[in-house]
Amino acid sequence: MSEHVLVVNSGSSSIKYQLVDVGTGESVAGGLVERIGEGGDGTLRHDGPSGRTDRTQPVPDHDAGVRAVLDLFAEVGPSLTEVGLVAVGHRVVQGGDRFTEPVLVDDAVEAAIEELSPLAPLHNPPNLAGIRAARHAFPELPHVAVFDTAFHHTLPAAARTYAIDRDVAREHGIRRYGFHGTSHAYVSRRTAELLGKATDEVNLIVAHLGNGASITAVRGGESVETSMGLTPLEGLVMGTRSGDVDPAVIFHLQRVAGMSTDEIDTLLNRRSGMIGMAGVNDMRDVHDAVAAGDADARLALDVYCHRLKHYVGAYYAQLGHVDAVVFTAGVGENDDIVRELALAGLERLGIVVDPERNAGRKKTETVISPDGAEVTVLVVPTNEELEIAQQAVALVG
Ligand code: ADP
Repeated sequence: MSEHVLVVNSGSSSIKYQLVDVGTGESVAGGLVERIGEGGDGTLRHDGPSGRTDRTQPVPDHDAGVRAVLDLFAEVGPSLTEVGLVAVGHRVVQGGDRFTEPVLVDDAVEAAIEELSPLAPLHNPPNLAGIRAARHAFPELPHVAVFDTAFHHTLPAAARTYAIDRDVAREHGIRRYGFHGTSHAYVSRRTAELLGKATDEVNLIVAHLGNGASITAVRGGESVETSMGLTPLEGLVMGTRSGDVDPAVIFHLQRVAGMSTDEIDTLLNRRSGMIGMAGVNDMRDVHDAVAAGDADARLALDVYCHRLKHYVGAYYAQLGHVDAVVFTAGVGENDDIVRELALAGLERLGIVVDPERNAGRKKTETVISPDGAEVTVLVVPTNEELEIAQQAVALVG
């Protein structure tokens, strides 16, 4: 019987899960519980071997959410007792300085994740709620926490340090941590395999462009620069986040516009990026608006690609030599226009995109640079669930 891991990604009002067969790398079942603790009924969706099941029922908290998921597995399959579940893998966003690799969850680890919550107030508390609920449901199984920040623990001091007062920085843990680490790790390893090289032999620029977006410079398999910082707000333009702004924008909005800290937090995290500039956060809607002649959408797309190119150039300079530029996640995998615009005009760096190879959505790993190009440009679909499952199995043996 091959080993299976239940991968859980728990948000403030949602639980996403996948049952991964680590032997084949396939997801055998998965689903989503939404509207947890929002008053009305929660919604559940479960995809298994026998098709899709949708349901609405009260889901007052994460415990109830996990119980509802277990009921679905029991009723429509596959049976968790029969598949040979070896671990539950949990995505945790912020591991701080403490967690540089996956860990087996015990009460002390739970407490440490809670202590790190001030650094990730939107993410760590719901991640922890999911862990607690799953530990209640599966007390006999090992639970492994896999941290978004862990892959970036190799950032050199010069890359992770903000140029602010060192005592303030140390006291409050103010530094660049980086996120999307499981995706950057998975995509880096797959890219090395596709290039026919060992992971520690390749220098890569990996652009994870989903609703959240970050870009990482990888030297010899290790993250040496990444665009997200203390929180996932810094760096690239995203669906609803601004990415880089002059920090003085915040003081200005406080002093001149009279906005509160919470209002500015909401503005920059939820009402900026593509939705702020174009009025829609999904890149497909942005392209539709551009095609209809919407000047704001055109500008938003230009800002998005301009920022992306800016980082590609900066990371090329940091790495000195680049073997490949890799696109992944929703926009990176599906959006040929963004891939083309972001890398246009970089021929002198050896970066060229072949229009025919680039055209269309990429469901599988695809080279989009011409044969013989100095830098290989690829699309590598990410698989964070598989990465979490593999890391969990590696830890529990
Ligand atoms: P996340 O995991 O961050 O929620 P995903 O990696 O699933 O996000 O990416 C979702 C985003 O991918 C959508 O918001 C949308 O902008 C983009 N996307 C999905 N499909 C397409 C497509 N066909 N063309 C362009 N962008 C797409």
